[in-house]
Amino acid sequence: MRTAKKTVPTLDLFRLAAVLLVVMNHTSPLADVSAMADFWLTRVLARVAVPFFLMTTGYFLSRNHWAGVGRQLKKLCLLYGVCILLYLPVNLYAGSFTGPADVLRKLLVDGTFYHLWYFPATILGIVIARWLSRLGHRVALPVAALLYLIGLGGDSYYGLVSQIPLLRTLYDGIFTLCGYTRNGLFFAPLFLLLGVAGRRWNQKLSLAGFFLSLAAMSAEGLWLHRMDVQRHDSMYLALPLCIVCLFSLLLGRNKGESRKVREFSTAVYVLHPLCIVLVRGAAKLLGLGEMLIENSVLHFIVVLALSALLSAPCLLRLQKKPSPTARAWREVDLAALGHNAQVLWNTLAPGTELMAVVKAEAYGHGGAVTARTLQRAGVRAFAVACLAEGIALRKAGIRGTILILAYTSPEETPLLTRWHLTQTVADIDHGRALAARGRRVHVHLALDTGMHRLGILAENRKEILEAFRLPNLVVDGVFSHLYVSDSLEAEDVAYTQEQLTLFYDTVAWLRTAEYDPGKVHIQSSYGLWNLPAQPCDYVRAGIALYGVRSDDAPVQRSLDLRPVLSLRARVASIRTVQAGESAGYGRVFQAEQETKLAVVTIGYADGLPRDLPQRGGQVLIQGRRCPMVGRMCMDQLLVDVSDLSEVAPGDTVTIIGRDGGQVIRAEELAACCGTITNELLSRLGMRLPIVSG
Ligand SMILES: *Cc1c(COP(=O)(O)O)cnc(C)c1O
Repeated sequence: MRTAKKTVPTLDLFRLAAVLLVVMNHTSPLADVSAMADFWLTRVLARVAVPFFLMTTGYFLSRNHWAGVGRQLKKLCLLYGVCILLYLPVNLYAGSFTGPADVLRKLLVDGTFYHLWYFPATILGIVIARWLSRLGHRVALPVAALLYLIGLGGDSYYGLVSQIPLLRTLYDGIFTLCGYTRNGLFFAPLFLLLGVAGRRWNQKLSLAGFFLSLAAMSAEGLWLHRMDVQRHDSMYLALPLCIVCLFSLLLGRNKGESRKVREFSTAVYVLHPLCIVLVRGAAKLLGLGEMLIENSVLHFIVVLALSALLSAPCLLRLQKKPSPTARAWREVDLAALGHNAQVLWNTLAPGTELMAVVKAEAYGHGGAVTARTLQRAGVRAFAVACLAEGIALRKAGIRGTILILAYTSPEETPLLTRWHLTQTVADIDHGRALAARGRRVHVHLALDTGMHRLGILAENRKEILEAFRLPNLVVDGVFSHLYVSDSLEAEDVAYTQEQLTLFYDTVAWLRTAEYDPGKVHIQSSYGLWNLPAQPCDYVRAGIALYGVRSDDAPVQRSLDLRPVLSLRARVASIRTVQAGESAGYGRVFQAEQETKLAVVTIGYADGLPRDLPQRGGQVLIQGRRCPMVGRMCMDQLLVDVSDLSEVAPGDTVTIIGRDGGQVIRAEELAACCGTITNELLSRLGMRLPIVSG
């Protein structure tokens, strides 16, 4: 048996080289040697650095299927804020702000210090790239390339382009808003999206491509420089090709990540201009100007050393928490959730509201994050299964009605009152016991129209009236549950109709007897899919909100719902077994030929059905379907990856969701193990962190 090679995080390590180039760009170490050499080093070669940062950012974002995009943007904003404060004294000392418009322009586009343009550019670039990427590479890349070309005209080619009066006016307009076209609109999206598309090509080809395009870029830069047409010298025609080849070269050797190196290089990037200021100040104070400022090589070395020293704590710092996407995780698409709520809402009769069923941690999607998102989308009523879930929602800041759908012990009545929760009356004895506690409790009366699970029998009008008259119980609503509304069989459809008739008759009788039934509700998700809009106050929607059906059985009405949850894990190890060898517990898997196996970091303790591999379960790796093999372990499973040439430890494995052109739907997985998505999703274990975006 062979194991995979040692891992080297080439992509992260190259950040060190890139940041070195940035420091050179700002210190011109070769200025004393030759003006030409200095120009080539700092204005041509060093221009590779920032596009490389952007490309890796795009690559890692898409590798996590954009799940971390919200977090990444928040982090960038925070870091930019810290940088602004850090450089504020220098700004004030140098008097670099000329007025409110100038402050705004620098804050939002150009950066408040010369190197800080990177932050607003990356932030805006990510937003644009994310938006463009939804349109697919074929649209996104050409649009971003066009933006880059426009940017080029305001940069290295300005002197040529501005000879055309119309274009000159155009660029003059642009330059009233920003100092450079090297920004989040014209510059960042292309490199971010090239990173998103990030492919490993043949290594020799990549190497040759890199040197050829670098040579082309050098010729281009020197020619433009000699022609004296450059307004700025940040963008070249050959730069994207050069960076794509370089990236492919590095990606081909990349294994794993190094967060410490990433943070260290970011710190050097952020701090080195401050170090330039400090070194110059110190040199003047100590009378060492000749040595530390005028000697360009020495100046560069001292600045670099000081920046590295100040950034060193990043390398020593202990990581506090494991990254949520380090092992196996649930990805929750909040935009899809909001979209689904809107779609469901649109199907309701006027006056009917959505009651979001968020029991069982919102069917495995995370109770708090789901309810908060829905509250922001305008949902004012929620349903949970038990008291603890209701309290958790209140603690998470959920207002409005929270209805507990199942039994709560009468002993807990004080907590129902304390947290303003609405309790379902399970039967008349439950109602009596709740009332006997002597505290006002808000309740919805469940009517049993045939399911015989909870509620007072709809025919038992004596008990219904008793419930209404009980002291302390405030009846805010009356509801029932349809339990074959998922079926389109004639017999079941007729049965559902009988339930509806019994329910509406009972409600009508209550009204004529001058009892206010309050909020009336009976439909849940399948009631929405298979019935016309009902004259009710609420629809209790669960599974439909999460963008999936319970199974693939047909429904009456097709709704444009999007799956909210994806389930992903990582490749831990790659190993090859020879024909005749077995793998996993019970020697269930027997290799018939040489087989490449990936060990994947998820198992039945995370909520996956243990018999999934034996029932034909599959995963997606690099957008390809790979079969699970052997017996699933508690924390790991085996996948046959013989068909993949480049699979490596750290690669993302998709168990539910999309990867490239392929998708594994929750319905497919549920069908595979003979259950419904409701069960599959709600069982996803607490060990799977939720990453939302
Ligand atoms: C769980 C539940 C729902 C939600 O059902 P979905 O089919 O997921 O929409 C509605 N009503 C009651 C009483 C429930 O227990």
